[in-house]
Amino acid sequence: MAAAKGIPFLDLITSHLELEEQLLDAVKGALRTGMFIGGPVLEQFEREFAQFCDTKYCVGVSSGTDALRFALMAADICNGDIVITVPNTFVATIEAIIQAGAVPHFVDVDQRTFNMSVEALREYLETQCDRSDATGLLRHRDSGRIVRAVIPVHLYGQMCDMDPILALAEEFGLVVFEDACQAHGSEYFSTKKGQWQKAGSIGKAAAFSFYPGKNLGACGEAGAVTTSDEELAQRVQIIRDHGQNKKYHHVVEGYNGRLDAIQAAILRTKLPYLTEWNVRRRDVAATYNELLRATEAMQRPWVPGWSRAVYHLYVICAERRSELQKCLAENDIGTGLHYPIPLHLQPGYAHLGYRLGDFPVTEELANRILSLPMYPQLSQHQQQEVAKALARFYEAEIIGGNVPRLA
Ligand SMILES: *Cc1c(COP(=O)(O)O)cnc(C)c1O
Repeated sequence: MAAAKGIPFLDLITSHLELEEQLLDAVKGALRTGMFIGGPVLEQFEREFAQFCDTKYCVGVSSGTDALRFALMAADICNGDIVITVPNTFVATIEAIIQAGAVPHFVDVDQRTFNMSVEALREYLETQCDRSDATGLLRHRDSGRIVRAVIPVHLYGQMCDMDPILALAEEFGLVVFEDACQAHGSEYFSTKKGQWQKAGSIGKAAAFSFYPGKNLGACGEAGAVTTSDEELAQRVQIIRDHGQNKKYHHVVEGYNGRLDAIQAAILRTKLPYLTEWNVRRRDVAATYNELLRATEAMQRPWVPGWSRAVYHLYVICAERRSELQKCLAENDIGTGLHYPIPLHLQPGYAHLGYRLGDFPVTEELANRILSLPMYPQLSQHQQQEVAKALARFYEAEIIGGNVPRLA
């Protein structure tokens, strides 16, 4: 339970109380049919979420991590092939790559969007890879591995700059998978296509997470693959279900990675509210932007003209971040760090062979980012309290004669 006066970082209670009757009916429905795995409710949700994402297919799975892993496996990205992604993401992105049997290679993120830098991707492809041998395959020069795919991560609810990423992918023969686990409903304006495109509809396939705190959250674990490629969708269906295309006919090695019917029923109940919740998140972000306009010691999120962000997180970039976070905590204001340690510096991934200094933008961000409370139900009054606490913190600095500024 949230403390009466405090402002939690995340509120997973209010939205469920608002929908409690409907959610309980959804669970009852499953109890009364006895359909707990698969069945019509799952299929309905899959159709509805595919429609929401402007894709032909959606395959429900047990988590966002499985969604990404199964999508890679369904496209035969394995055998030590390289998949390019960013170090500024949740660990699941590289868990999926490694557990599919591939190898993650990082490129740095953009200073302003905090998402995959197109220049860094281009530089990696142009300076570290060759397409010299007879097979025409792109190879990473030092390791000799084949470079097969790229996973742009639409972090914090804002999409990556997809037009140039797709152009590079086409030029170098890479398959694109979107990590859309934080981007349900986010949109990108493609200049090439002359239209707005939904997250999850651009790459060969995309992964969504319905972890409770995501913009669309289950009451437990859940995820989905979206794609318009029928064969890939079918392969994911087989992989999630013990590799069987028919009961006890196992055509490939599979997993127990299904989305259960109760979670599907809960997701179906919540999906009609997602667009409205995203609008409210944008309103919350607009209010923060206004309230924090004068606080020069911190940078507000940058949203380019081609992006309609859905603010899974509202991430500022602040001087003296750790002290600020502590000060907010003392004022009962919850915050988060997404993410405090870049993946290339995590001890569990030392075997990837990266070092401090390899991705300076990501490393710098890790020391400066701070995620403020963000959810559709956050009130203006609560936001004012957050803004006041921030202003007080930096004003104290001004009095001390030491005005922190971003370089
Ligand atoms: C949440 C998340 C995942 C993993 O989703 P789970 O459902 O927790 O497995 C993957 N990538 C990103 C960027 C995420 O935020």
